[in-house]
Formats: sequence, structure tokens, C-alpha cells
Amino acid sequence: MSNFLREALTDKLGLWEDRGWRDVPNAVHLRALVNRLRTRCAITTMRVRSPTTDKETLKSAKRAIRIAANLGTIRRADPQIDARFLLSGARLSTLSQALAHKSINAMNIKPQRQRTINILDSVQHHFATALKTAVTHKDIWRSIRHRDIRLQITDFLWKITHGAMRCGEYWANIPGYEERAYCSWCGELESMEHILLECTASGQEVIWVLAEETWTLKGQPWSTPCIAEIIGVGLRAWKKAGPSKDEDKEASRLWKILLSESLYLIWKLRCERVIGHADEEGWTHSDRSVSRKWAHAMNARISQDRAMTHARFGRTALKRDQVLGTWKGTLKDEQHLPSDWTRSRVLVGIAPGAFDPG
Ligand SMILES: [Zn+2]
Repeated sequence: MSNFLREALTDKLGLWEDRGWRDVPNAVHLRALVNRLRTRCAITTMRVRSPTTDKETLKSAKRAIRIAANLGTIRRADPQIDARFLLSGARLSTLSQALAHKSINAMNIKPQRQRTINILDSVQHHFATALKTAVTHKDIWRSIRHRDIRLQITDFLWKITHGAMRCGEYWANIPGYEERAYCSWCGELESMEHILLECTASGQEVIWVLAEETWTLKGQPWSTPCIAEIIGVGLRAWKKAGPSKDEDKEASRLWKILLSESLYLIWKLRCERVIGHADEEGWTHSDRSVSRKWAHAMNARISQDRAMTHARFGRTALKRDQVLGTWKGTLKDEQHLPSDWTRSRVLVGIAPGAFDPG
């Protein structure tokens, strides 16, 4: 461990707990760590890292982080706390008036905004009525951070769920920028729904056709998702075809990848058009170029999946069967691929869609 951690766990812990963790850097994660250590019944031994003997280990750990950052597979640690081992609040005998004030102010946690609650409710309602699945707000937040959804897309979904995207109504209230609230192509008030599902210039029509083609190759029924289904992309569990009630885990995984990559590409294309080609009136991506970009996004995920089966990822590595199963039935010239293409260097890509002659 680092010197900071040693000091935190030995010298400073008592003081910080007395002060209720006020003004402590990284308090959320440190508290979770201390809590976790207290749940252990055996003695836990640790040592401070040595710049000489641990050099190689540190180097390879840093390398693994860099690779994961490039692949977008870094997962945020969830600072979970076991309430049985939690010391909460500040110790009264050590509480100064200034500290007490700070603590009270910190307790005034801002309530969740009504707009966010409405969006979460609409996702919940959709899953309850259309899919007969009960989900909580917490389930929705957790599903957005699902490991099969790329971090960039997780951030995007998080912003949509907070109604925090810079489009539509966001501009309507800013003097001088009101016209940005409207789609420059259709003239309608822009919303995420308009961009992802309605706009005739965002490439969404082509992308949903391509997603449908790939999805039906998997033998699953398709209907273009609504906005609630899009936000809840990580929640959907697909059943195996036939009378079995079991989940088709590989189809559920493909769904998360297929949908999340598709919706994010639509948003990216919209930004390229509105921001990158703002001066060129009437400019849109051609169907061919939308199709090429979509295939590129899917092929990047296939390559990432293949890379993530490597043993160097240790416990976070993907299982080869899981990767092969996810893409089974959807690949170009699949009958000519080796049965375990994750171990070979052969080029693997998504089957070409309706807008791509080959
Ligand atoms: Zn439009």
C-alpha cells in the first residue's frame, strides 16, 4: 500500500472518525475500506510498497490500468458499507462548534431533481407494463453501470437520466441561444427522443434497421426500442427461444452491446452534423457512411471482447465461451471462421447489413 494509506489507516483513522470524516480526501472510499477491514474476523496484514522490490509489480499494475482505460473497461469501485460495522457521525466530546456547523450543512443533501425522478419513473413504468418486470430506481442506476456498457456510454446514459443533455429545452431558456432548442433539420423541439428515434437527419433510421438485422440473426423478436427501453438497456433479460423460461444470457449481453453502441452512435452522428458541419446547410451523413460507422463500432466491440479474453486481465477477463456465444450467428462468413476465433488472428466482423453491398 501507499504511504498515504498507511498513515490513513494507522495514525489518522481515530481522529478522522472522531470528526465524522469531515474534510477528509477520498472519505467515501476510505470509509468503505475501513468498514470492509472491520468485517474480517482474521488479522489482516499489509505492508508499505517498496520503490525497489515492488517496482515490476507496480509497473505491470499501471500497464493493466492503461490498457483497461484504452479499452474503456475500467470499473468504478462501489464503496459499499456494511452497516453492522459502521461508526457514523462525529464523536460529541471532540466536536467543535465550527465542525458541528459544517456537519449540519453537509446533511442538507440536495433532493433528487424532479426531472430525474420523472425519467426514472417512466423507465420503471415501461418495464412494469410492457415487460411485466418490476425494477427499482436503484436497479436502473446499477444497470447503467453494467460492465457490458462502455464507460463513455454509461456517462451518456447517466446524463440522459438526469435530463442533463445540452439539447432542446436546455437552450430554450438561455437568451440569445433559443433557436438551438430546435432541430435544424426538422424544425421540431429537439429532445433525446427526437434525436434517437424520430429525426430524419440523425441516421437513426438506418442504425435501427442495422440493429434489427443483427438482432433477428440471433433468433429474437425485434421492435424499435422506446426511450424508456433505451435508458433501461442494461435491465433487459431475454428468454431462450421455445418453451424454456431460462434467460438467454448471451442474447441479453448482445442486446446491451448492440443497443448501447447504436444509440451512442446516433448521438455522435447528430453532434458531427450539428457542430462539425454547422456551416453546411443541408449536410447529412449518407446511408452508406452511417452503415460503415455502425459496422466499425460493432467490430470495435468484437475486437475488444476478443482482447478481454486474455489471461492478463485475470479475474476481470471475459470467458471465451461467453464471447463466442454473444456474437454467434451475427458474424460475417461465420461458417469459415475457426470454432474458437478468440484464439486466432483471423479478421472477425459483423455480418454486412442492408446498406452495405459487401
Ligand atoms: Zn430532427
